[in-house]
Amino acid sequence: MDYQAVLEEVAAFARPYVGHGQVADYIPALEKVPTDRFGIAVADINGEVYGVGDWEVPFSVQSISKTFSLALVMANDNEDIWKRVGREPSGTPFNSLVQLEWENGVPRNPFINAGALVVTDRLQTLTGDASTTMLHFLREESGNPDLAFDQAVADSEAEHGDRNAALAHFMASFGNLENPVPSVIEHYFWQCSIEMSCRDLAAAGGFLARHGLRADGSRLLEAREAKRINAVMLTCGTYDAAGEFAYRVGLPAKSGVGGGIVAVVPGRCTLCVWSPGLDSRGNSVAGAAALDHFTSLTGWSVF
Ligand code: GLN
Repeated sequence: MDYQAVLEEVAAFARPYVGHGQVADYIPALEKVPTDRFGIAVADINGEVYGVGDWEVPFSVQSISKTFSLALVMANDNEDIWKRVGREPSGTPFNSLVQLEWENGVPRNPFINAGALVVTDRLQTLTGDASTTMLHFLREESGNPDLAFDQAVADSEAEHGDRNAALAHFMASFGNLENPVPSVIEHYFWQCSIEMSCRDLAAAGGFLARHGLRADGSRLLEAREAKRINAVMLTCGTYDAAGEFAYRVGLPAKSGVGGGIVAVVPGRCTLCVWSPGLDSRGNSVAGAAALDHFTSLTGWSVF
């Protein structure tokens, strides 16, 4: 596969969509990012990375971090997390509260905010410092020792974090958090604030394409666990647009309101695309168009 040529063609296809949609403004620090950005990178299973456009420009990973927290918890705790969080699509927005009361404080899946808070809570118990553990893991997997938190984004989200605090308190009232709410939401905001480029994220997500093997060849997850994470990405990774995303793209994927989307072709490669304009569900407009074209061109969807 001539990845470079494919990416050039995908970028040309996505170009008219760049600038469409809205930049997330409920986290004011994210609002400053120019909407005309677009980058895409692919890391093959040997760690070779190709990219076009703004593929080396760092952006806020936001909810893409939920994939890595789930992987780190499953790596340390096998599958116990599934007693505290489900794995069904929610059909509701990523920050919705409505199902939690009906379902006794057990979130539908680990990729909506409520579910990610439970996963971060568990990572906090397991490691004593959830967000720093994730940062170190991402530095190692991406091969970029300069990765860092963006304090302005973390502070901005904390200042406007009433809804996530409400989700966390609500779950705590059902006994579904092990750590105090302020510590859980602080680590969650920090993990979301990590800045990475498409290059960094495509490389860091390589273990999902390598059936659980890390960049250095050691095993992070059993193959069956990597399969499960990919399955939950496919069904839940793009929130209440996961059905539409599977229909258009047909790959496990996780999006974030920073405008990034990581997608996995198991056994072949991991992609990351970034363009900050979001659709009404919080997924990058140009990013989704690019991935749609990628799987159409290559035939590399899981279907
Ligand atoms: N930090 C964001 C939030 O909690 C992440 C949401 C997202 O990327 N969808 O609202």
